[in-house]
Amino acid sequence: ERLQNSFQFLDVGRQDPGKKDIVERRTSFVEIYEPYKEEEVKHQSHRCLGCGNPYCEWKCPVHNYIPNWLKLVADGNLFEAAELSHQTNSLPEVCGRVCPQDRLCEGACTLEDGFGAVTIGSTEKYITDTALAMGWRPDMSKRVWTDKKVAVIGAGPAGIGCADILVRAGVKPIVFDRYPEIGGLLTFGIPEFKLEKSVVQRRRKVLEDMGVEFRVNVNVGVDISMASLLEEYDAVFLGMGTYKYMKGGFPGENLPGVYDALPFLVSNVNRNMGWEDNAADFIDVKGKRVVVLGGGDTAMDCNRTSIRQGAESVVCAYRRDEENMPGSRKEVKNAGEEGVQFFFNRQPIAIVGDDKVEGIKVVTTKLGEPDENGRRRPEPVPGSEEVIPADIVLVAFGFQPNPPSWLTEASVDINDWGGIVAPEEQDYKFQTSNPKVFAGGDMVRGSDLVVTAVWEGRQAGEGILDYLKV
Ligand code: FAD
Ligand code: SF4
Repeated sequence: ERLQNSFQFLDVGRQDPGKKDIVERRTSFVEIYEPYKEEEVKHQSHRCLGCGNPYCEWKCPVHNYIPNWLKLVADGNLFEAAELSHQTNSLPEVCGRVCPQDRLCEGACTLEDGFGAVTIGSTEKYITDTALAMGWRPDMSKRVWTDKKVAVIGAGPAGIGCADILVRAGVKPIVFDRYPEIGGLLTFGIPEFKLEKSVVQRRRKVLEDMGVEFRVNVNVGVDISMASLLEEYDAVFLGMGTYKYMKGGFPGENLPGVYDALPFLVSNVNRNMGWEDNAADFIDVKGKRVVVLGGGDTAMDCNRTSIRQGAESVVCAYRRDEENMPGSRKEVKNAGEEGVQFFFNRQPIAIVGDDKVEGIKVVTTKLGEPDENGRRRPEPVPGSEEVIPADIVLVAFGFQPNPPSWLTEASVDINDWGGIVAPEEQDYKFQTSNPKVFAGGDMVRGSDLVVTAVWEGRQAGEGILDYLKV
């Protein structure tokens, strides 16, 4: 039977969880994937070869013990799988939903070449969703409290990763966030069709039960000073993300009808969740011709939110080709299925209109030589200008760090592009120039992924424990 099992991948193909009906997907803000059933997940996890070289583990930024928990799931040991999965990842159910697996774990799976990778992400999600629903909770029975406490600024993935490591070691994390809910961009960024907010709220409860304290609606630097945190706490972790919107630098960007991606997405979440302070903040694209500029995760989220709001049409203009898009391929495919039209190799050069947006002028590009990151540079083709008609333009060109000025007073060094200097390779991982202050996530590496923010938060947590000699 063992021999038969090791060739399971020949008999059982890769089977992703089913997706909701397309009409429902185009009109509602619920997650599009159905959960796996127990038999399905067992069959799928059985496909893992347990190969001697678990490339998947190395490619996974938190180095999850993937083949080990796949085996536990295949054998029906769900609670053990959940415990193991939580040893390396503070948000496994979130990463299972939102990681670009095709570029990470699944892209590195040996079966990817010809047989279809093991459905690692969906299995990771299943393990925690199901175990939590069945009453499993992280095992804190061996935790011994110390007298140390750490202020964590930012309740996003980095802050949560750090707090998870600290609380398990008996160091009390007090997590401050300026928003009314925890999660950072998980709550105020990533839309519900990828990650329902109840998932983050459930995680909040789990973390609180573990001993993490959240203080929301506290804007550090305004409601409480960094100096007082430095005085009161044994260490401070900074996980405040990146929130300065990148601009295109072309004419027409200030015309009415042009919006940055994040305010659009956040206004939508606030409306859906009943968290709206002022109805005028809602950016409504119903019946409008929408053009989204950009090709990353944020652009895809704007596209698909516009579809669900009932836009007349949604066009996504991106300056490279599909192959060179930075976001998750799975989500590009989902966007196409839901009715988004892609205009590849189009670089915006102006937003046109007299007193409001009427269209976006683009030029066709062809890909030239690779740039310093190895990505081929788009070069404009002369004489190829065209105007795509639009009532609304959503700009999703990414984010830059916006470190607050009080960091300088706290002697925290910032590099030339605004990122906090907190190297991984030093005695205390992710320590800043102020020995008592550590940092991680988007504000250190620039805007990236949930899983890399979790990793850096966890590593910084380890650095803090070493620094505190716990
Ligand atoms: P954040 O998540 O930004 O959290 C920072 C927190 O700090 C926020 O809650 C903020 O309120 C708080 N804060 C800031 N300043 C203060 C202050 N002075 N006082 C108190 N609190 C403060 N990644 C993926 O892996 N997959 C995806 O599908 C994906 N989709 C995305 C879609 C969108 C629209 C966006 C914008 C990003 C997406 N990302 C995705 C990226 C991912 O969300 C981020 O890389 C990740 O959230 C970074 O985590 P963080 O903890 O560093 O920062
Ligand atoms: Fe894959 Fe992300 Fe899970 Fe790692 S955390 S196994 S990369 S889905």
